[in-house]
Amino acid sequence: MRGYAAEMLAKQVRQGALDSDFGAGDKELFLDYLRSEGFLTRGDFKYIGAEGRSPDINPGAGLDPGPGKESKPYPLGDILKSRTWQTLRSISNLDQQRTMFEPIGGMDRLPAGFVRNMKPIIKLQHVVEKISQTPTSVTVAYTDGKGQKGSITADYCVCTIPLSVLRGIDLQVSPKFKEAIGGVSYALVGKIGLQMKERFWETNHQIYGGHVYVDDPVIGTISLPSTGWLSQKGVILGFYPHGAAAARMSGMTLAARKAYALAAGQKVFPEYTAANDGSFSIAWHRVPFNMGGWAEWTEEGRAKYYPTLLEPDGRLYLAGEHLSYLTGWQEGGIESAWQQIAKLHKRAMA
Ligand SMILES: Cc1cc2nc3c(=O)[nH]c(=O)nc-3n(C[C@H](O)[C@H](O)[C@H](O)COP(=O)(O)OP(=O)(O)OC[C@H]3O[C@@H](n4cnc5c(N)ncnc54)[C@H](O)[C@@H]3O)c2cc1C
Repeated sequence: MRGYAAEMLAKQVRQGALDSDFGAGDKELFLDYLRSEGFLTRGDFKYIGAEGRSPDINPGAGLDPGPGKESKPYPLGDILKSRTWQTLRSISNLDQQRTMFEPIGGMDRLPAGFVRNMKPIIKLQHVVEKISQTPTSVTVAYTDGKGQKGSITADYCVCTIPLSVLRGIDLQVSPKFKEAIGGVSYALVGKIGLQMKERFWETNHQIYGGHVYVDDPVIGTISLPSTGWLSQKGVILGFYPHGAAAARMSGMTLAARKAYALAAGQKVFPEYTAANDGSFSIAWHRVPFNMGGWAEWTEEGRAKYYPTLLEPDGRLYLAGEHLSYLTGWQEGGIESAWQQIAKLHKRAMA
């Protein structure tokens, strides 16, 4: 895509169509840039394939030059219709950059670190059912894992339950606050992990990590693991649908989801189905304690409801990814918590 676009632009520039846009000497520099950006030929600025493409024949020893035999580019029309160029853009976004940190062992190692240090005060399997307030205290009522009811009373409460769940909980807050809690929708999203007996994408195809973008929105992205290279097994992300496609996926049985994912991957890798020995899929909008992947604020919601939720209602403070501009990222949850704790600290100190 970059090659063809650079070739077309170079043609226009060389014909003088854009002369009025260049300062003195800039036209030649711009053509140099296009030649470099699009991997164009020296003399006539043509795109005929590029070093960046996988060669049909890899460079070898002796009389095997390899790099001289780049594979033939796909026709422009095919590339346009595939829309793969959308991906070139997305990897330049702030939150999709190429250098991203991954905790060893997976994203949940971050909360696991908090749990390690806070274990004595965390109560697991306690489902919050009601939050009530007096002028001097907040009481959180719950049912625990054994069905026992109980409550905790404190001076203040910082509540990090997602708004999608919180709107179904009995809350003693102002009508304005309650309305604001209902003022945001949550992302429909799903994933499936497919465990493979062998890492055929590495051993047979020399692909180490990365994504396969699929135009069926129920599949969306197939992702290959970026850790454990050349080890025995591996888990592939078999689909990652959003919105209506995620709703469609989540209406399928677990077996049907797996079959759907395998059929899609099979079109890309001939080893896919035979190598599979297990799967696990999840639809976040159907998990009772998530009810969605992350908050999706509209511009209107940000203006009308968001500011209300940033302020405490009585002695109740909210925090979480939903109260940040980094929704869908742990960083959003952590930054939001810092902000709310700072407010609470200031108030308590006063
Ligand atoms: C598919 C997907 C991929 C993601 N990928 C990444 C990623 O690669 N990197 C990244 O940084 N972030 C990622 N995120 C986002 C990240 O998971 C969230 O931003 C983060 O977990 C939000 O933290 P939080 O504390 O606001 O909410 P949560 O982590 O949702 O915490 C809320 C807690 O409240 C609990 N709860 C809910 N209801 C009740 C109740 N009634 N009583 C008691 N407890 C309750 C829940 O069980 C949960 O533990 C991803 C999210 C999804 C869905």
